[in-house]
Amino acid sequence: MSIHIMEKIRNIALAGHAGAGKTTLAETLLHRSGAIHEMGELSRGTTVCDYDEQEKALGHTLEVSMCHFDHEGTSVNLLDTPGFPDFIGRTISVLPAVETVAVVIDARAGIQPVTHRIMAAAQEYGLCRMIIINKIDDPQADLHGLLRRIREVFGNECLPMNLPADNASKVVDCFFDPSEEATDFASVEAARTEIVDQVVEVDEELMELYLEQGQDLSPRQLHDPFDKAMREGHLVPICFVSAETGSGINQLLHTFAYLMPNPMEGNPPEFLKGEGDDAVPVEVTPDADAHAIAHVFRVIVDPFVGKMGVFRVHQGTITPNSQLFVGDARKAFKVGHLFSLQGKDHKEINKAVPGDIAAVAKVEDLHYDAVLHDSHDEDHFHLKPAKRPPPMYGLAVSPTRRGDEQKLSDALHKLAAEDQCLRIEHVASANETVMRGTSELHLRLVIEKMKKRFNVEVATRPPSIPYRETIRGQAEGHHRHKKQTGGAGQFGEVFLKVEALPADSGFEFVVKVVGVAIANQVIPAVENVVRPVMSAGAIAGYGMQDIRVTVYDGKHHPVDSKEVAFVAAGKKAFLDAIQKARPVVLEPIVNLHVVAPSNAVGDITGDLSSRRGRINGNTVLDDNQVAVDGQVPLSELENYESRLKSITAGEGSYRMEFSHYEPVPAQTQKKLAEAFTHRPD
Ligand code: GDP
Repeated sequence: MSIHIMEKIRNIALAGHAGAGKTTLAETLLHRSGAIHEMGELSRGTTVCDYDEQEKALGHTLEVSMCHFDHEGTSVNLLDTPGFPDFIGRTISVLPAVETVAVVIDARAGIQPVTHRIMAAAQEYGLCRMIIINKIDDPQADLHGLLRRIREVFGNECLPMNLPADNASKVVDCFFDPSEEATDFASVEAARTEIVDQVVEVDEELMELYLEQGQDLSPRQLHDPFDKAMREGHLVPICFVSAETGSGINQLLHTFAYLMPNPMEGNPPEFLKGEGDDAVPVEVTPDADAHAIAHVFRVIVDPFVGKMGVFRVHQGTITPNSQLFVGDARKAFKVGHLFSLQGKDHKEINKAVPGDIAAVAKVEDLHYDAVLHDSHDEDHFHLKPAKRPPPMYGLAVSPTRRGDEQKLSDALHKLAAEDQCLRIEHVASANETVMRGTSELHLRLVIEKMKKRFNVEVATRPPSIPYRETIRGQAEGHHRHKKQTGGAGQFGEVFLKVEALPADSGFEFVVKVVGVAIANQVIPAVENVVRPVMSAGAIAGYGMQDIRVTVYDGKHHPVDSKEVAFVAAGKKAFLDAIQKARPVVLEPIVNLHVVAPSNAVGDITGDLSSRRGRINGNTVLDDNQVAVDGQVPLSELENYESRLKSITAGEGSYRMEFSHYEPVPAQTQKKLAEAFTHRPD
């Protein structure tokens, strides 16, 4: 649609578990609305939304793709999102671009782990939600049971707008123009009454008309309170469809056009100005005449136009002549060409108003999550950070070809700018470049891309575990350094004490020397040698933490006491004290959350116990799934992904986050200490 009228725009994310039929549904909607003339095929990779080589090879959506169609005078932007638990972060990160999240549920598979997570994330963002029950043509689907479960799990505010009839071969409307037709469920009238009862609860005047005066209400009268009820989470409409046979598609299109909120009717995302504790909420309004503000929710590298930033306009108007700043940049760039996207294809447009989704190309500084704006008044604006699972799955990478170090670093940083689930870390203590992603599959795809696009091949290995060292007790240490070789001698003697401090207190250096036992200028020499030993580690080569060092005595010689003598004495006295203060190596412990079919729970807990894990509890989920929560040392999770996949026949998924540090078992400490002592320097 070339006329950009905010009231006419609908932005809808199709989300849900992999295989629910989102891509097929998008294709069917595009076809039915006339945006495409022929339906593509998933198996041949010819659908509008799954076009990427990797998506074609895997047969699943891996990235968010954008498409749009016009229907009944509205312009609908659909975002097809990945449904693999591994890529849920990508789905969550596009939520600020839409008013409505349409959660697609496979009628046979029912409520699946990603269904739960998306419903919760959309609610957290204050987005309007609707549920699409797809594949109603599947003879094995239990539609009655599913509707009951949906209402049990997500609440009685989930109400059908239409109902399957004639053995789910068609769908009967219950809201717009209800007929007397029989359905496979309750009567159409009963379904309509339930919706109207729910909607009028948010509008006192209508409630009065309806309940007190017994007036029937038209869809037109119910339009605004319907949107309000959705905005407040008081109503989650359900539509039954079959993307394959086309049943229910017309009703779904009509529901999108007529009832889903436009950019002025949804709850806008929260923008903040400033960083950290100083950040304050700022108002961004869908006003086409105000300063322009847009948020980049996806970066694509297109083989023809290069890097493209896909953004949603939240305020103001952007045209090819706009001069936009990326974040806090001092210098603006000229938009030049503004595109709208239909899968991999793009078309030039002449403007984008609040609610529009558009793209710009060839702007090197563009990165995921950037805010684009046309006035320095909006410097330091950013979107309230999304609560995405932090990427925990790590691999240390190094180039296989010598001299490719810089190329590797450039490639990794470019890929991280376009992939919000990828983090690159340089671990100085181990001199390692570590990439962190959401799963083994995610990083495998990154490695493939690196080879294809940047011609960089890498060797991978598990990253080093970030162990730490500390002490458990207190002890005294002493060393006398004395050297007489020909000319002037060296003499220095240091007495010190080390004590354990509470976790996360760092390092304290205290001087309590009585009199002038050691000259003032040599005390800094002792501190200067203790600090590097602290960061290099004393027993296994990992940084030491939470230790207080008190220098309390020493001797010096008027002629032979030089700084170098105190450096040597200080180091030895410190190491002496540490060895006596019950040193321990600490390891990171992570919280692990595993979701898997319930019949695999015994194997999962058994496997975790063999990895020194502690199980905190199990929660029974829907669809025969159980969540197991526990704590496990990070070092024990090296091959966990493939192990979990084999225990659960590929059905299990997990996520983990850092919890705390704990001492390693004595045997492990011994091994680490031996490896350190024998390490070639
Ligand atoms: P996505 O992962 O949610 O995007 O799901 P896809 O669109 O890739 O579909 C997954 C599988 O479900 C494919 O084999 C589709 O052909 C099939 N499918 C999609 N919609 C329907 C439907 O309405 N009925 C039936 N029987 N199969 C469907």
